[in-house]
Amino acid sequence: MAARSPVNAALACGLVLSIVIAPATGAPVATGHGGAVATISAQASQAALTILNNGGNAVDAAVAAAATLGVTDPFSCGIGGGGFMVIYLARDKRVITIDHRETAPAKAGPTLFERDGKPIDFDTAVASGAAVGVPGTVRGWHEALERYGSMRFAQVLAPAIAVADTGFRVNATFNGLVDQNLAKFRQFTPTSALYLHDGKAIPTGTLLRNPDMARAYRAIASGGVKAFYEGPMARAIVDTVNRPPVAKGVNVRAGTMTLADLANYEARIRPALRSTYRGYELYGMPLPSSGGTTVAHALNILEGYDLKALPRAQAEHLYIEASRFAFADRNAYLADPEYIDAPLAGFLSKDFAATRRALISLQQAAPGAVAAGNPYAFQNDPSVPLLPPVRASIRPPPESLHTTHLTVSDKDGNVVAYTFTIESWGGSGIVVPGYGFLLNNEMTDFDFAGPHPNVPEAGKRPRSSMAPTIALKDGKPAFSVGSPGGATIITTVLQTIVNYVDFGMPMHQAVDAPRISQRNAATTSVEPGFGGSAQATALARFGQRWESPPEEIGAANALVFNPDGTVTAVSESKRHGAGTALVQRRGH
Ligand code: GLU
Repeated sequence: MAARSPVNAALACGLVLSIVIAPATGAPVATGHGGAVATISAQASQAALTILNNGGNAVDAAVAAAATLGVTDPFSCGIGGGGFMVIYLARDKRVITIDHRETAPAKAGPTLFERDGKPIDFDTAVASGAAVGVPGTVRGWHEALERYGSMRFAQVLAPAIAVADTGFRVNATFNGLVDQNLAKFRQFTPTSALYLHDGKAIPTGTLLRNPDMARAYRAIASGGVKAFYEGPMARAIVDTVNRPPVAKGVNVRAGTMTLADLANYEARIRPALRSTYRGYELYGMPLPSSGGTTVAHALNILEGYDLKALPRAQAEHLYIEASRFAFADRNAYLADPEYIDAPLAGFLSKDFAATRRALISLQQAAPGAVAAGNPYAFQNDPSVPLLPPVRASIRPPPESLHTTHLTVSDKDGNVVAYTFTIESWGGSGIVVPGYGFLLNNEMTDFDFAGPHPNVPEAGKRPRSSMAPTIALKDGKPAFSVGSPGGATIITTVLQTIVNYVDFGMPMHQAVDAPRISQRNAATTSVEPGFGGSAQATALARFGQRWESPPEEIGAANALVFNPDGTVTAVSESKRHGAGTALVQRRGH
């Protein structure tokens, strides 16, 4: 709906636009024709819209939005990290994915996070060079643009460069994230220089410019993908990982990344993981993200109940229990498919799901973590021995609540669902000197101690939870959804699908609803304000218990393709400071 000129003008002068259309629920929602975009950043949504208005397709616009998020949301994502992009190609009527997950450097091994034979403390591991995986984002963008885009880096990076050059106003969310991470950021001199003022978090309202990041983007705009993976920027990354720029007196574990690790980094074009749920075909991220597989498994468990017909509290109880069992299986079996032979056929079979469903009580929550099931028995492959279940990771690595998700469609019907990250808020906490971007701590998504399928190995991708999803109905896109939030990504996507498909909520309500996240633990994560609500009380009758303290969960973005040919973009009304949903031409 926004005309091209004001958007360009706003980008040029770095204004924070908030073209947010608020329906009664308060969620940013826009319905109309042409392309659509939903992201958690006003500038990023504007960047995507500008590219669409300039004739770019959904892939071009997604990269433009992602690059802009790297500037305005640098603690969630950026070129120092990696991600997963799911693309529906309208002309070919097929869905592909681009896995550009970070890889372990060639010198990394299973003892990466051990000292004297014992796993080191998680926070110590995070703020270190050893935590940094070989970044995949720029290679992912390159593959997306080359194979499925219509524009070049120079065009799609222009809006992000404008925002990095002219600056943007620090908002309360941004300030709060720096504040939460002061101890980590203070350890590294370039990070303190960029994000601290007088040793404190950069104040709300400050105009923040990042000329170093503009410089990094300009180098990629003119030199292409090689400008990141070879030459001066690659050398700066390797130096920073192996000799972290620490403040006086600070000691952190160094990494072992080489120029060859960067030069050899490859993204993977993988077929999307297809599953079905109540007449929808769901296309999600295959391994090494556990996202698509675990969402599909939980939905397979839920498909055996007539959720619509049940009292709401009982249906929600079953959602919680299905997620518990799906997570038990995820935690035991899933990891990088190039390193382990995950029993995927069995894992995704409706018959395996039925055995898990049979263990769920209609009335009573499981008292705590449940054991993994045995998907090997459902592989339907006589050459595969019926192995006993591997040891479940009793305590998977403590993934937390970061990352960003965006979604874009274009006038030709292409759709992108894209989740990318630097792992923790602010990643490893290390800004690459002279280039203005934070390096990831994705290596801490490995299990710290084995034996387990998800231990660090040279070149391996740590298991992820990212779950960008595109749903088709009758062969046509019906909706897309995704979220940040570590392992809660899986439950946010799952719950939003259940809210929308089973409970019949419009998408903005499905996104707005209080989030409930069970990941095979005694208690279930909930958001502030949930405890004591009528919904909580009704669920407590089924023996459900809540984790404390409550915390905001996720920041979803979604698209709905309406039967009348319009598209509705939906973002968050409150979470992560609220998002921005835009369409090219508003109205029905
Ligand atoms: N590292 C997480 C994953 O790949 C995402 C980071 C987060 O959301 O905390 O699933």
